[in-house]
Amino acid sequence: MEKPKKSFFYYCILAFIIVIALNTFVFPRFAANKVQEVSYDQFLNDMSSQSIEKVEVQDHQIAYTLQDDEMIYTTIPMDDPNLIERLYASGASFAKLPTQQDSLLTTLLVSYGVPILFFVLIYKFFIKKMIANQSGNMMSFGKSNAKIYAKDQTGKTFADVAGQDEAKESLREIVDFLHDPGKYAAIGATLPKGALLVGPPGTGKTLLAQAVAGEASVPFFSISGSEFVEMFVGMGAAKVRDLFKQATEKAPCIVFIDEIDTIGKKRDGAGSLGGNDEREQTLNQLLAEMDGFDGAKGVVILAATNRPETLDKALLRPGRFDRRIPVELPDLAGREAILKVHIKKIKCLESVDLKEIAKATAGASGAELANIINEAALRAVRMGRNVVIQADLEESVEVILAGQQRKSMVISPREKEIVAYHEVGHALVAALQKDSAPVHKITIIPRTSGALGYTMQVDEQEKFLLSKEEAFNKIVTLTAGRAAEELMFHSITTGASNDIEQATRLARAMVTRYGMSESFGMVALENVTNQYLGGDASLACSLETATRIDQEVISLVGQAHDKALEILRENMQRLNSISRWLLEKETMTGEEFMSLLKQQPQPLPPAQE
Ligand code: ADP
Ligand code: MG
Ligand code: ZN
Repeated sequence: MEKPKKSFFYYCILAFIIVIALNTFVFPRFAANKVQEVSYDQFLNDMSSQSIEKVEVQDHQIAYTLQDDEMIYTTIPMDDPNLIERLYASGASFAKLPTQQDSLLTTLLVSYGVPILFFVLIYKFFIKKMIANQSGNMMSFGKSNAKIYAKDQTGKTFADVAGQDEAKESLREIVDFLHDPGKYAAIGATLPKGALLVGPPGTGKTLLAQAVAGEASVPFFSISGSEFVEMFVGMGAAKVRDLFKQATEKAPCIVFIDEIDTIGKKRDGAGSLGGNDEREQTLNQLLAEMDGFDGAKGVVILAATNRPETLDKALLRPGRFDRRIPVELPDLAGREAILKVHIKKIKCLESVDLKEIAKATAGASGAELANIINEAALRAVRMGRNVVIQADLEESVEVILAGQQRKSMVISPREKEIVAYHEVGHALVAALQKDSAPVHKITIIPRTSGALGYTMQVDEQEKFLLSKEEAFNKIVTLTAGRAAEELMFHSITTGASNDIEQATRLARAMVTRYGMSESFGMVALENVTNQYLGGDASLACSLETATRIDQEVISLVGQAHDKALEILRENMQRLNSISRWLLEKETMTGEEFMSLLKQQPQPLPPAQE
């Protein structure tokens, strides 16, 4: 492997020595035969003084040498009739003189040879090295430079992955196979060559892959899909080839391709501009390699993606990534388990209640939970403590949800009042409706995310289904902030923009996806793509229907707003007194809120009903 590299290096040095030798020993010789241009009358003088030794007469140049002189003189010929006779008479001998050829040779060498040599050297040293770096086996000496991340031990085990029990169950079989491929071969069973981990970002897909390698104690080859996408066509494919070659040599082992959607996107045939060709070649090579290698050897390919719907169908057919392992956002128990794993790394009080934190973080991913623990530790240090307490964790949840506190932000008393009424509006309406999550905290301390205040609601139990009434009540709660502002100040502000967005989105989903509107019934009017990355909805209906959907959404949100206004109107006294309290204290816990609510007189029962 090393040989070509060395000999190439020697060639370079040799070429260098030759150039230097030519310069010092050969060129000076020619240089001694210097050529000097003289005037025609000088030439005539030299001729008449009979000192010319050799002469060469050409159409465009006369060259001559003098006796006892190394120098070659040249001059431009004139219309001089019997010049030859006169030269002959002067005793000069006619000969070929090396003026032209020599200067030509020198010129060639200097002005062409050197630059060419220069470029050849640059090419050899840099470009080839670059290609070799990227492609591995394109040049035999690039292999060691291939940027494939091979680790003998990842140091992670399933114990590091909390929750995700189903995913771990599926992967445990792979671990077992890697431990003892022979057992499976003996019975004639073949294990899937590849498994695809799909799920939202931060749910532990990369972590799980590392844990599989750690559990099986086999080498772990890891590469990210984006690393295959190279500047030059063909290099990604070469990298894939190299990756599989190295993996087969080290079998049993795990090859992990992270973010496989970067290369595994659907091929759309009509190659558009840019890197598509390259990507397709890389994908084709990957498919070919997956078909080509012998699964029984013990190479298992894991891949991860959060955009499974964009993957090329060819990747998912049997014999390739035919096992699909969902890695979803953790549920309540899962969140608590993840918090437990990460809290081990920091010092904290025995008494901290992780369940409370888990409850308050519905929808958070494992990565976010890990971040919450770390933020809490940072806050403890900032506060000059050496252990983490519950308050650190609680504040940290809010930091992750809404950003850091901005106590320095100056807000006018009038605006503070508006914010207080707005938030208490949300809280009151939430508390006074059935089927809505209890209020956990209300605050009017501004946050770096731009929120001037917020109301946190935390479900006692995890909810997996949302009834039509609950969905509608949610919209009512969302519109209640604005409703409180209207009732109290008879004006409206921009503060409700986020509420409006959420309310509209939910109302729209009720109509187009959940089949909760009477006029449309159970018809899917929107398709959701990209479910793991926020979910983009695209209309799947005619323009007329789209117009009707809009009307339906508007009326739904309108009804909700009316209901919020109604509830608040009946509870003006409560709204007033609780808002005053919040204005003074700036934050209010759920318990404080509930006790204030109970102290207040019940509103008069509505006239009808
Ligand atoms: P993904 O690849 O799915 O985007 P990662 O595997 O990179 O997510 O997870 C990022 C980090 O989040 C991990 O390093 C780990 O600290 C934390 N994490 C995520 N899920 C879990 C889990 N189930 N258990 C423990 N830690 C987790
Ligand atoms: Mg990842
Ligand atoms: Zn609001």
